[in-house]
Amino acid sequence: MSWWFDKAYECPACGWQGMCAPTPPLDEAPCPECGELMTPRPWWDTYGRALLILAIVVVAVLFVAYFGGGHGFW
Ligand SMILES: [Zn+2]
Repeated sequence: MSWWFDKAYECPACGWQGMCAPTPPLDEAPCPECGELMTPRPWWDTYGRALLILAIVVVAVLFVAYFGGGHGFW
């Protein structure tokens, strides 16, 4: 039901990874494989890594576009 509220989890016991609905107040969720209580992964461990890669690509493209401009590339 509350899929928009799901968070990324990784089970410390069996290594299961996936989205689960967090349970207040500590945002823990039981592992669907073994029942171990999981704490949500921090946002920078999921979206942050993708954003970091995206930022590096954008910076690299801008770097080449700016410093490569004097060599007749444009
Ligand atoms: Zn597990």
